[in-house]
Amino acid sequence: MRVVVVGAKGRMGRETVRAVLNDPELELVGCVDRTLNDVAVSAVLGHESNGVKFSNDLVKTLIDTNADVMVDFTTPATMKANIDKAIELGVRPVVGTTGMTPEEIANWDQACKDRGIGGLIAPNFAIGAILMMRFAQQASRYLPHVEIIEMHHDQKLDAPSGTAIKTLELIAQERQAVQQGHPNEHETIPGSRGGEFDGMRVHSVRLPGYVAHQQVIFGGLGQTLTIRHDSINRESFMPGVVMSCKQVMKYEGLVYGLENLLD
Ligand code: NAD
Repeated sequence: MRVVVVGAKGRMGRETVRAVLNDPELELVGCVDRTLNDVAVSAVLGHESNGVKFSNDLVKTLIDTNADVMVDFTTPATMKANIDKAIELGVRPVVGTTGMTPEEIANWDQACKDRGIGGLIAPNFAIGAILMMRFAQQASRYLPHVEIIEMHHDQKLDAPSGTAIKTLELIAQERQAVQQGHPNEHETIPGSRGGEFDGMRVHSVRLPGYVAHQQVIFGGLGQTLTIRHDSINRESFMPGVVMSCKQVMKYEGLVYGLENLLD
């Protein structure tokens, strides 16, 4: 499978380049980023380019390399046009960048089906995070009072995290609606109670030192339950990225969430 990595110079992009190079079934054929020069090339690959195309021109790279899969770890502002272009060219998008709307996901799903290709958007590629979401969804059936605290490094652009949104969406499918907190509660400092989604609260912490962490806290009579996941480094996402590059070759349409590719 011929893979192009977009955002190849970034934190996730570099890790993805390493993971693709290390997998015998995947072939790294192109790397795209805003600015790529020889220094950046060897920094990304760890050695000279060896035939891998480096460019800041996504369309040209996808065409020249005859890519099967485009992995995108860029920015919320960039990713949308990248996905459009990939689908248009019949290249399967595997997207870790977060910040899209449900309508956009539905449109890309249709576009993938029209083009007869697969695609995947995963707010989180770490298996532990997928399990955290699944367990949280189950728990919410019995403990409907729930708040999420997600913690990320301070270079993250979007809030709350895509993982937090996905967790809230999954819980909302399962949880019976309840009034959380006091009906007359009042924020002395605006925003103190966090963001609101379907009656649940979500709080985003941004600090140096963190990678990607989330706790889902449930409250019941005389008890709390906390489900927590920590990505300690970016390697945690790579088995999911590699698996997705292989799986998107096997179906049509856009899958949202890595859990849908697991048994
Ligand atoms: P980063 O800032 O380190 O890297 C982003 C890269 O994209 C940079 O190298 C930048 O130059 C490049 N870029 C920006 N605009 C571009 C354009 N127009 N064309 C080509 N390249 C462009 O960010 P990061 O920490 O690697 O995170 C990237 C995204 O992945 C974020 O949205 C983050 O939330 C998300 N993320 C997802 C997961 C997951 O499991 N799904 C895990 C971690 C991070």
